[in-house]
Amino acid sequence: MNPLAQIVRATRPIYRKLSTTATTASAAKPIPTTGFCFELTDEQKALQELARKFTKDEIIPVAGQYDKTGEYPWPVVKKAWEVGLMNGHIPEHCGGIGNFGVFEECIVADELAFGCTGITTAIGGTSLGQTPVIIAGNKEQQKKYLGRLIDEPLVAAYGVTEPGAGSDVAGIKTRAEKKGDEWILNGQKMWITNGGVANWYFVLARTNPDPKCPASKAFTGFIVEREWPGVTPGRKEQNMGQRASDTRGITFEDVRIPKENVLIGEGAGFKIAMGAFDKTRPPVAAGATGLAQRALHEATKYSLERKTFGVPIARHQAVAFMLADMAIGVETARIAWQRAAWMVDHGQKNTVMASVAKCHASEIANKAATDAVQVFGGNGFNTEYPVEKLMRDAKIYQIYEGTSQIQRLIISREILTAATQTN
Ligand SMILES: Cc1cc2nc3c(=O)[nH]c(=O)nc-3n(C[C@H](O)[C@H](O)[C@H](O)COP(=O)(O)OP(=O)(O)OC[C@H]3O[C@@H](n4cnc5c(N)ncnc54)[C@H](O)[C@@H]3O)c2cc1C
Repeated sequence: MNPLAQIVRATRPIYRKLSTTATTASAAKPIPTTGFCFELTDEQKALQELARKFTKDEIIPVAGQYDKTGEYPWPVVKKAWEVGLMNGHIPEHCGGIGNFGVFEECIVADELAFGCTGITTAIGGTSLGQTPVIIAGNKEQQKKYLGRLIDEPLVAAYGVTEPGAGSDVAGIKTRAEKKGDEWILNGQKMWITNGGVANWYFVLARTNPDPKCPASKAFTGFIVEREWPGVTPGRKEQNMGQRASDTRGITFEDVRIPKENVLIGEGAGFKIAMGAFDKTRPPVAAGATGLAQRALHEATKYSLERKTFGVPIARHQAVAFMLADMAIGVETARIAWQRAAWMVDHGQKNTVMASVAKCHASEIANKAATDAVQVFGGNGFNTEYPVEKLMRDAKIYQIYEGTSQIQRLIISREILTAATQTN
């Protein structure tokens, strides 16, 4: 049994007791049963501690090297798999522990991102690929494809974006045609995280060629194996930041997909692909929060060491206030992902809150990283110091899993719909 499983099994009875005996559980720290509670459970604290130690020991020492080489961080991914920091949400019937909610995944993402968001995205990309199978897969599909990721350190990927369509998902051109008991897939995907290293992909394709068919019926979601004939990942893209993450185009040429690999059924794909974001945007927001936390950490440390005009620059109010703004950003971004994750884990519709968290945290990360470079002055602009990487790494948070403009579109639509219904 891996170490996390051991911790989880050991603390589960304590957790259960604490949650059911509200007043007697602990004299020092009573656990409230109503209202807000900002305290992590014992299990969550253990998980956070594990992720923090993993970041310190396994990620921070190699982050610079992977940023320079752009290699996929397989050794780190394999260790994360071994200690149970990946796949915690995979159900028990597939061999998983099944004890992670989205909240737990966020706790891990927040911690790992402190060390390197490129490596965090390499690890998080597999969750994105798995989520359609978790929310829409039948038991056989889950056992086969999620079970595989438990048996071996393999990763999955989510293939929706194409060269001609990202924000406008309904504009994708990859198509699948039914022939007997199979579907024949043709088309091209672009910017797929883990595209070159995944064992299998979730792929969204158009299955109804009628342009008048609504998006809610025109697309189908498939599980496509990397090794099937006709599947060809492209070259690794050279990105501005998060360079440890593997981003590629993928070409599908007459790929034969058995009907058993259709998720739910013909026409259900758009809803599955979009529905996944309710669970995957909070961890993206958590990753952005971890990056902002690192920016604050580095800037604080440097501002106490660097002297100008005879005093540490932290003593200049203009610098100190940048630190304060970073702290405001980190705290509010963290509360936002916590609420978005908590809502979906409690069965509440969280689409808007997931967008709020993702949009807010991504902007906080960019502001904090830019301000950290500013605090470092000329040194901040140099690759020998840690903050220029943070600035390069931060940008993608405003683009992938829906740009900041698309998040605002989702949020504003909701506000306007609610207002129209009230009037
Ligand atoms: C490193 C990286 C990793 C990625 N990983 C994945 C992955 O694993 N799987 C996957 O499927 N995709 C992935 N993507 C794709 C990513 O989700 C898209 O790039 C993103 O959704 C934006 O789409 P686009 O690039 O086509 O930009 P466009 O949609 O062409 O947008 C261009 C600009 O126009 C704005 N815009 C577009 N429409 C509107 C509108 N209606 N209102 C206001 N502004 C608008 C956008 O906000 C943006 O600023 C990844 C991308 C990158 C760069």
